[in-house]
Amino acid sequence: MNTTPSPAYEAVIGLEIHAELLTRSKMFCSCPVLDVTEAAPNSAVCPVCAGMPGTLPVINARAVDFALRVALALDCEVKQTSIFARKNYFYPDLPKGYQISQYEQPLARNGRLTFRTDRGERTVRIRRVHLEEDTGKSTHISPAESDEAGENDAHSLIDLNRAGIPLLEIVTEPDLHTPEEVGAYARALRQLLQYLGVNTGDMQKGVLRIEPNISVRLSGSTELGTRTEVKNLNSFRALERAVAYEIERQIGVIQAGGKISQETVGWDEAEQVTVMQRGKEEAHDYRYFPEPDLPPLVINPEWLETVRNALPEIPFRRFKRFQSEYGLTEYDAEVLTASREVADLFEKTVALAKNVEPKVVANWITGEYFGLLNQRGAALSDSEIGAQSLAKLLELIEAGTINQASARRVLTGMFETGRAPQDLVDEYGLRQVSDSEVIGAWVREVLAESQDKVDEIAAGKTALTNWLFGQVMRRAGGKADPKVVQEQLGSQLQDIIKKG
Ligand code: ADP
Ligand code: ZN
Ligand code: MG
Repeated sequence: MNTTPSPAYEAVIGLEIHAELLTRSKMFCSCPVLDVTEAAPNSAVCPVCAGMPGTLPVINARAVDFALRVALALDCEVKQTSIFARKNYFYPDLPKGYQISQYEQPLARNGRLTFRTDRGERTVRIRRVHLEEDTGKSTHISPAESDEAGENDAHSLIDLNRAGIPLLEIVTEPDLHTPEEVGAYARALRQLLQYLGVNTGDMQKGVLRIEPNISVRLSGSTELGTRTEVKNLNSFRALERAVAYEIERQIGVIQAGGKISQETVGWDEAEQVTVMQRGKEEAHDYRYFPEPDLPPLVINPEWLETVRNALPEIPFRRFKRFQSEYGLTEYDAEVLTASREVADLFEKTVALAKNVEPKVVANWITGEYFGLLNQRGAALSDSEIGAQSLAKLLELIEAGTINQASARRVLTGMFETGRAPQDLVDEYGLRQVSDSEVIGAWVREVLAESQDKVDEIAAGKTALTNWLFGQVMRRAGGKADPKVVQEQLGSQLQDIIKKG
């Protein structure tokens, strides 16, 4: 029997993430930044982003502003002077023959991001944040597809709408160790970019592309193993699967006595495997050199301070504060800080609603309101219900003007008509009845009509009380104060049973 335990391996992962910046115009020209999945091909192209000789790039200040937001939110050191460089390579969707990027002197370095995983908090170090421009997009048409379109041969289509869109590259240190951690980090970064208003986070549109670098080593070792890099993943699922696959594949190779070779691989979504694209020998020599057409990018301290002062609270801190300040559970705090929009709605509602506990606001937003939106397939941004009207609705419940069930109806009405809750309460005639005389009379009527049930309750089937409660509420058109109904029902039943 083989008694040697198989050695334990540890995975080491670092991520490069490319995020398109939500500026109005491109990085070095005034072409608009369009939704490239929808716009007509090549409808936003000029001589600069088409790479015509003799044109000159101009740095988009707003792109720098956005990059600074991210750098500061990631606790980076921002370089006062950074340099754009030419990264030279040939590809049909790169008409200039080079991409303008930052290389030796990036905008920012040495940051960190703290995020949550199922196994607790983690902090990953950020190696660098730099600005560059996106490339165009090629679409390859196979011979079969060409035939169908009545064209001759296989060919490729080039759309330059994306060429020159500002891209931010965010690179971590190799601090991550599991597919789950990698996924959690990527999600946290996406959420941060959305909070900062610099990226839509719309992964399906390719505005966020992730490239994990993966190696494995014996547990306890501090040396880095040889890594592979998976290109251009644009879903968290693909990211987690590709990382898990690579870890297993590499361990398998090593256990079989083989060696990992440094290579770039792609993720085959259909087969759920990675496939080799190029090895180290074929690695590009990009022949970087400083871009002669652009001056060094100088960030003066005032600019940096202006950006710093305008930064929103980052999601992780807001998540913590929602628990400490409002006494919310981790779960509620997580749901309510998932987006800045929701977090703002919650805090504004809490501030406006008099005598309403934050927990009640949280329940109504995450429960009833989100339930309603879900049911209608609507997003928060589609709804006209704001903090003001939500606060009013909750005050009406708190004051006993309407009960919970009526409030749900009113909320639906608010969503459908955009009208104020007070108006709807009157229009629907939902004002709650709390008068114990009126409710007492309804209870008496129901009990008189339900003698059989009363007898069963007297015989011990107390669960039937709920049925009676429902009958009284029905008689009240749903408007009775449930507490008073319970009281009346309890005392009248007791009287009957005593007498019986
Ligand atoms: P390149 O630009 O050539 O891809 P970098 O040195 O910038 O290389 O590293 C890219 C990413 O790879 C970084 O996120 C880094 O943390 C990660 N990385 C570097 N070496 C390793 C390794 N041996 N194992 C896992 N990740 C690594
Ligand atoms: Zn242009
Ligand atoms: Mg790389």
